Amino acid sequence: MEKYVYLFHEGNGNMRDLLGGKGANLAEMTRIGLPVPYGFTITTEACNAYYESNKSIPALVEMQVLEALTHLEEKMGKKLGDPENPLLVSVRSGSVFSMPGMMDTILNLGMNDETVVGMAKLTNNPRFAYDSYRRFIQMFSDVVLEIDSYYFEQLLEETREQKGYTSDPELTAEDWQEVIKGYKEIVRKHTRKDFPQDPKNQLFLAINAVFNSWNNQRAIVYRRLNKIPDHLGTAVNVQSMVFGNMGNDSGTGVAFTRNPSTGEPELYGEYLINAQGEDVVAGIRTPQAISTLKSEMPEVYQQFSETAKRLEQHYKEMQDIEFTVERGKLFILQTRSGKRTAQAAIRIAVDMVKEGIIDRKQALLRVDPDQLNQLLHRRIDEKAERKILAKGLPASPGAATGQVVFDADEAEQLGNDGKKVILVRPETTPDDIHGIVASQAIVTSRGGMTSHAAVVARGMGKACICGCEALKIDVKAKQLIVGETVVNYGDMITIDGSTGEIMLGEIPMIDPELSPEFQLLLSWADQERKIGVRANADNPEDARKAFEFGAGGVGLCRTEHMFMEQGRLPIVQKMIIAENDEERMEAIEQLLPMQQGDFEGIFEAMQGYPVTIRLLDPPLHEFLPDKEELLVEVTKLQILDPQSDELKQKEKLLRKVRQLDEFNPMLGLRGCRLGMVHPEIYEMQVKAIFYAAAKLAEKGMEVNPEIMIPLVGHINELKSMRELVIETAQRVEEETGRNFKYTIGTMIEIPRAALTADQIAEEADFFSFGTNDLTQTTFGYSRDDAEGKFLQSYIETKVLPQNPFAVLDQDGVGKLVETGVKLGRKTNPTLKTGICGEHGGEKSSIDFCYRTGLDYVSCSPYRVPLARLAAAQATIRQEQKKCEAYTPV
Ligand code: ADP
Ligand code: MG
Ligand code: MG
Repeated sequence: MEKYVYLFHEGNGNMRDLLGGKGANLAEMTRIGLPVPYGFTITTEACNAYYESNKSIPALVEMQVLEALTHLEEKMGKKLGDPENPLLVSVRSGSVFSMPGMMDTILNLGMNDETVVGMAKLTNNPRFAYDSYRRFIQMFSDVVLEIDSYYFEQLLEETREQKGYTSDPELTAEDWQEVIKGYKEIVRKHTRKDFPQDPKNQLFLAINAVFNSWNNQRAIVYRRLNKIPDHLGTAVNVQSMVFGNMGNDSGTGVAFTRNPSTGEPELYGEYLINAQGEDVVAGIRTPQAISTLKSEMPEVYQQFSETAKRLEQHYKEMQDIEFTVERGKLFILQTRSGKRTAQAAIRIAVDMVKEGIIDRKQALLRVDPDQLNQLLHRRIDEKAERKILAKGLPASPGAATGQVVFDADEAEQLGNDGKKVILVRPETTPDDIHGIVASQAIVTSRGGMTSHAAVVARGMGKACICGCEALKIDVKAKQLIVGETVVNYGDMITIDGSTGEIMLGEIPMIDPELSPEFQLLLSWADQERKIGVRANADNPEDARKAFEFGAGGVGLCRTEHMFMEQGRLPIVQKMIIAENDEERMEAIEQLLPMQQGDFEGIFEAMQGYPVTIRLLDPPLHEFLPDKEELLVEVTKLQILDPQSDELKQKEKLLRKVRQLDEFNPMLGLRGCRLGMVHPEIYEMQVKAIFYAAAKLAEKGMEVNPEIMIPLVGHINELKSMRELVIETAQRVEEETGRNFKYTIGTMIEIPRAALTADQIAEEADFFSFGTNDLTQTTFGYSRDDAEGKFLQSYIETKVLPQNPFAVLDQDGVGKLVETGVKLGRKTNPTLKTGICGEHGGEKSSIDFCYRTGLDYVSCSPYRVPLARLAAAQATIRQEQKKCEAYTPV
């Protein structure tokens, strides 16, 4: 018989798939003897069974729930719905991967008109009993009955005002009874039924609702964002209640075992006295720092900090822990590995190695390469003048500039239009998630470091400031007032999430540097990895950055960008529209020293590391003015100044533009085809490369050029271009009296090249897979058209699992890469292979490259650190897999 329900003592921490993360950890903590309120977990398989039976709980599941409930009742010595001694439970969702705030939890289930009286008597605390009952009605109504909590908040607010109270703890038992009456009225009005009184009925309705919440909008959005599969389902935890709202010797809180923002080894968190569950996370009251608990409840603090240490040692990971204190007694409600910023992730990984908790390989696997982007962002220039508007809690580091918006929908709209916005709100809720995604940063006036906004922002690596109470936010008027200053919707602000400072206007930023811990971690990565990391750099400045970030060479230097630089375009145009060889050579002679200068700078920056230089690739008309615009100008001149030289010049240009016009430029006269038709251009470029090499050799510096012929589809193209390069090199060698060490290779970016790689490799010293064009030519997509017109919807409707331009399509494009490498090495065993293009900086593509046996990946300079780490992870993962494979059964 299928087992759908596990009591806490029957499970353990390894059963995440079945029990969900929360359930597995509750079981594990129970197993190691921590004070966890007892309960049971309904499995993710039960959730899937629920959906398979058309959203109804199968009889077998129901039976097992009732059995487990009886067991729980016996253990607690209380019974669900017993007016004398009622059991109250929470019903908590828990998916395999933690989805903070995404799924809904119900507390105090089992409360009704009778049990509330029992609770009041039993605890001798009617105020507490009625407060708990009204909380239950409110949560249950929101999650199960789908009545907007607004109505309840409204009524509560009115009551508070009427009685002249400023906060909830001032309400008496009688006040709460009155509120409950009103609440029940609201329920009756919205559902045309009374609030359900039968606790078992409440329980199953709640279980249903948790299952349903797996498919609510915000859960779906969160899963898509974090690439969590939809079919996993959620588990449901039913757990006996403990109460943090029993008075001033009670409370509830959340704490991390280390600082999730900086990684410092210190308990870090917040708590609220006389409060229940969600109050801390919801950001309704700004809580106190965990350090004050030390003086307020020293014994509880002591016990908690020991438990925290124990949990961290047990899981060998930084933990995010929920706890509740009921009349001075500590209970642990949840533990999970804590979300953290990239900075914290690195610090924690390195510290844990030093503390002997994990080894270097584990540390390398602890940091998500994608997260590193955060650290490679620009930050506020300390020297810049800044006018500080207000200061809040530094909830997530990083700096950002943007226009102020006050609403998630507006943030999304403007964000999609390419505007930089900062979302400013009193607090955020899971319904704001789309707005947070579209914003550069988040600012809230309420809530603490563990509020929704803070947790989500840290997870996404966005800057965030919370609890900035100096801000008076008027969402309706779209205004933000601080003292005398008014900031309107659309005004620019800059925030620094590391200091909590909010500033008016746009503040200058500076380039990032790698921290000592980061450098240390990367040096460990370099020891592990077996695949090279190079950078794509088109100019000396990028090459210097790449070298600083640890690139072992330039994998792609695109020479066309040198043509576009200031002052050069007119000369390039002269070269293109030249009517005779003389004119053309004149322009070419002018270009040569410019290119040479660039090459010298790049060679110098790379200090002897290999530099792959690709000869001119794009179609020539990319360097000429737009046809339509030119036509307008010519027409104007024909009317206004028909005799002018300018007109003659423009007409000539237009003729050339028309002549070069192509139906499909991507598949037209470009790449090596250009070199075949205009060898003089390639010749000039090759000369520039070797003159630069000679210049550096004079200074005693080593250079290592690799000359790359783009877009080869047939062996004869490469043969002919190779000859051109060799002849030109020889001429420069004779001229300068030097010998150059260099190689010649090609970019593999056309399927035919990959399929005939054995032939091509006979003429090539290296292959560089240009996976961007190879993806275009393999799919038959032009990237700009695809991304603009249909790719997004393809991904949404799951026609494609991902954007193949961001994540290498291993099944199709990857197969061509594999084929290319295998065939190429057959005829040329010393063939060097690598990839250039954006995929070279994407972790799963890097993993693929390593498994396929490429020698290196090449990516943009700012992604080099990420690629070094991802390359190490690929190696370690492969080793682990091999170990598993060899384990005797
Ligand atoms: P989330 O995943 O949104 O954090 P949880 O299931 O962890 O939801 O619960 C929400 C809040 O309620 C947490 O603060 C948690 O500690 C508290 N809580 C859950 N179950 C109980 C319980 N049995 N007794 C006391 N507090 C509880
Ligand atoms: Mg929780
Ligand atoms: Mg290309």
